Amino acid sequence: MLRQPDVKPIADGIQDLLVVEVVTDEGIVGIGEVHTSPLIAQAVIQAPLSHVSSRGLREIVLGRDPLQREVLWNDMYRLSAVYGRRGVAIHAISGIDIALWDIAGKVAGMSVAQLLGGDADKSVRAYASILLADTAEGVRVDVRQCLDAGFPAIKLGWGPLGVDLMGCVELVEAARKEAGEGIDIMVDVGFGADVRMAMRFARALEPLGVYFLEEPLSPDNLDGYARLAERSNVAIATGEKETTCHGFRQLMERGRVDIIQPDIARAGGITEVKKIVDMARTYGVTCIPHCWSSDILLSATMHLVSCMPDIPYVEFCTLQTPLRRKVTTSPIDVVDGVVRVPPGKGLGVELDPSTMSKYRIRSETGTQGGGGVRERMNTRDGMQGDAGTRGTGNRRRSRK
Ligand SMILES: [Mg+2]
Repeated sequence: MLRQPDVKPIADGIQDLLVVEVVTDEGIVGIGEVHTSPLIAQAVIQAPLSHVSSRGLREIVLGRDPLQREVLWNDMYRLSAVYGRRGVAIHAISGIDIALWDIAGKVAGMSVAQLLGGDADKSVRAYASILLADTAEGVRVDVRQCLDAGFPAIKLGWGPLGVDLMGCVELVEAARKEAGEGIDIMVDVGFGADVRMAMRFARALEPLGVYFLEEPLSPDNLDGYARLAERSNVAIATGEKETTCHGFRQLMERGRVDIIQPDIARAGGITEVKKIVDMARTYGVTCIPHCWSSDILLSATMHLVSCMPDIPYVEFCTLQTPLRRKVTTSPIDVVDGVVRVPPGKGLGVELDPSTMSKYRIRSETGTQGGGGVRERMNTRDGMQGDAGTRGTGNRRRSRK
């Protein structure tokens, strides 16, 4: 768990972070990230056996073959189903799954993009993802900075949108004026108006040429999304809080949105989000993954989109905070308005040890009397039971 010293109740999801490392018995280390409340996800990973289908993820994957990503995903899903199936359990599965893909790439000597059959040299246009300033002047300054940095598109989110939706129309007008034509502008409400208010807002945004309107309703208001998407001429996007194929199937079938935004470090990792991406194509829905976190998530996102022929943009958070930019040794940059798939094996990222030691915090989760679950586990042959290490002799079992 990494945490900056001054976490505030603002719409910045990279003030703290859970990094997952999966270590194999050959010493290969896979890196993943969970994009949620870190302490809660850590508990999901470290929890001891409680019931046959209520188990900590660590205990499920220990001693297993890390190359069996599908098998492990299904076991993690099935054996956490009492408390899981959605939400934080899937967030935590996502982090382990990303790490397993990193391992698979390192074992095969290929990038994750190559494992997915994608284009490892792909570049995708990046939209600058920023918080909406409170004043028109503030918006102009922010938009100018993004333009100077070469972004072809800018998303303005949260902030005053949650206070006075219609009052923000003039802020979006200021953004459009500063950006001129030819730059895409997106607007991210961040949760919840009602359908009528969202419809009024969408109509007001229409003459401003807004590329999409994001999360104008509660994630559970699927019927509201369907009504809004039906009537709005601005594309409706959502999905950063949704998880699994099942959730996204509901969102597309019942919510009928134009654009879905699965977050790979929440929605189920690379394994599940690849399925969501493929499913979206069959529904004729555009997929632009949510990506507001460290370069671990950005890297995983780039590898996944390397096999998407129709990806219009990737999200790029422009914050310069340590957890946004310094978790890995080589920050991923936007050059000429695009992001490239990181080179190298696996995800192509390495953790920066100085950031790890400076921002790491420890919790007592999973420990009893100080000894803790972690220290007592036998990583070679400690796994028992129906998710255990049947089939011995595999040299690439995972341990953590
Ligand atoms: Mg959003």
